[in-house]
Amino acid sequence: MTESATASSDPLPGAAKTAQPIEKKEVLFHGFPASPGICRGRVLVFGAAHTDFREIDPIPIAASEVDAEVARFQSAIEKTKSEIKTIQDRMQKTIEKRDAKIFDAHLLIVGDKLIHKEVISRIRNGLCNAQSSFLLTIQKYLDAISGTNDTYLNERAGDIRDIANRVLRNLNGGKDGGPSLDNLPENTVVIAHDLTPSDTAMLDRRNILGFAIETGSRTCHTSILARSLRIPAVVGMRNIAGKFANGDEVIVDGFLGMVIRNPSRDTLAFYREKISRKDELYSILQKESSRAAETTDGYRVKLCANIEGADDLEEVSRCGAEGIGLFRTEYLFMNTPVAPDEETQYQIYAKLLRAMRGRAVTIRTVDLGGDKLDFATASAIREPNPFLGLRAIRLCHEKPQLIRTQLRALLRAGTEGDLRIMFPMVSSLSEIEELLAIRDEVMEELKAANIPFDPKVRIGAMIEIPSACLIADALAAKVDFFSIGSNDLVQYTLAVDRLNERVAYLYRPSHPAVMELIRLTVAAAKKHRIPVCVCGEIAADPRFTPILLGLGVLELSMSPNAIAEVRGVIRKTSMLASEQLAKIALTSADPEDVMVLAKEHIQSVAPDIASILG
Ligand code: PEP
Ligand code: MG
Repeated sequence: MTESATASSDPLPGAAKTAQPIEKKEVLFHGFPASPGICRGRVLVFGAAHTDFREIDPIPIAASEVDAEVARFQSAIEKTKSEIKTIQDRMQKTIEKRDAKIFDAHLLIVGDKLIHKEVISRIRNGLCNAQSSFLLTIQKYLDAISGTNDTYLNERAGDIRDIANRVLRNLNGGKDGGPSLDNLPENTVVIAHDLTPSDTAMLDRRNILGFAIETGSRTCHTSILARSLRIPAVVGMRNIAGKFANGDEVIVDGFLGMVIRNPSRDTLAFYREKISRKDELYSILQKESSRAAETTDGYRVKLCANIEGADDLEEVSRCGAEGIGLFRTEYLFMNTPVAPDEETQYQIYAKLLRAMRGRAVTIRTVDLGGDKLDFATASAIREPNPFLGLRAIRLCHEKPQLIRTQLRALLRAGTEGDLRIMFPMVSSLSEIEELLAIRDEVMEELKAANIPFDPKVRIGAMIEIPSACLIADALAAKVDFFSIGSNDLVQYTLAVDRLNERVAYLYRPSHPAVMELIRLTVAAAKKHRIPVCVCGEIAADPRFTPILLGLGVLELSMSPNAIAEVRGVIRKTSMLASEQLAKIALTSADPEDVMVLAKEHIQSVAPDIASILG
């Protein structure tokens, strides 16, 4: 299937608009599966890093427009200079002076009189608009540089591209020169070097079919969002963006982590068959959405949903979730020029609680930082190790108003249903003590102001740092529940950056060390009689379900669309077998052994589900 010379005879909508040669070779690219599903669409290459200025055609203007275009160019240059100076000032406070000097080079490029002269001459004499005049000029310089073998000059090419993209964005009124993610053409598959979580949250849901990116891993937030948007995605596809052109036909296989450019007739037939098998299985599993998630020997498991916004509620009720186990509130703070105030947050939380009609809703306080940067409110400073830096409750420690406002809104909303508040990234007891003290102060303020609130809202700790597992006994004495965040627990236990595709092979949730930390956490929770849930991606992977049950976890929270399969596995497995599996997993030395064990088990109890997992 890797190389085939047959073309599709089954055109996609939109195919006629792009002049495709009749026969194109099929090419297969591999990455990591990030979001299950299969889609077939047309490529849109996104991202400034890959802007190919050579694709720019001169865009003609009338002689009467010349002065306005020149003025537009000059003002974009001035705006770019002032942006670079602002960045430089900010950086000077946070990075070495020597490194901040890089922006001097950027200022020199943007202020280069020769470039200005040439652009203005293209506008005046060539009657081209400002964007195309600028890009044609820049491309001339880039071509000259790429003709040399000089490493220094080649590095400068990167700087020139960077600056050019900035000028271009300003010429486009602040928008990226490329396509806009919130307004995509029909049947789009985005191929990009990177999509940040806020880019992904912005994707035009009507027209996006799937995406593939060069960076990332299964548990980066971009992948998590793709799963909650129910779009197939493949990540960690190194060096692919340059191998696609806008309009290429592709299949994204989010089960196997593959992207196929120009699929052949055989490939298309293969995928049609695969999709129909998958749809059949899902419709069978869907019919069981009102059935209890109960093992064959009678153990009840509570299945809840993870959500990123109140828009996901329809999905929550469709999948039969018993509650919301994780609401990632940081998305309320992204893609917005100002942070939501107390009243705005209160309205969102209260609406959610009312819609859930008494079912438990666990809302996590903001977990900004790491890969979720929010420039409007909190984490404008780029850190050398963001996942080890100012993230989640640590950020709140530096900006106490952030957590105070959120807690006020949450405690007020607590009167509307069964609310639980959860703190992310707890690493030590003093952090929890400090947060509980803030909670008490906020309650006093509300009381003094006669504002109604629920004083009994339960407070939980996310257990996602190994130190928290090791002091789980002390933490359990302070909080009302635990929720294990396996995504970060794996990252911090194995010292593997969850975003870095180069070390993704080491990111193994099945690692016995992770299993042991889960066991310790469950034991502490049991001792203090508090509930413990797993809300990381391991909870959404049916292959891990029996092991988690065997470790004593009877509450799982996951993306709504994963619930049907996990329920399906629970209903076909026994606690007895699960405990045996967990025992072996805990005594294994190698993550691969645990994985093989997990796969064999699911193959034997639920072969239909195993067959679509890939
Ligand atoms: C986790 O770390 O497992 C988790 C659920 O939180 P997030 O993925 O948002 O970091
Ligand atoms: Mg986490």
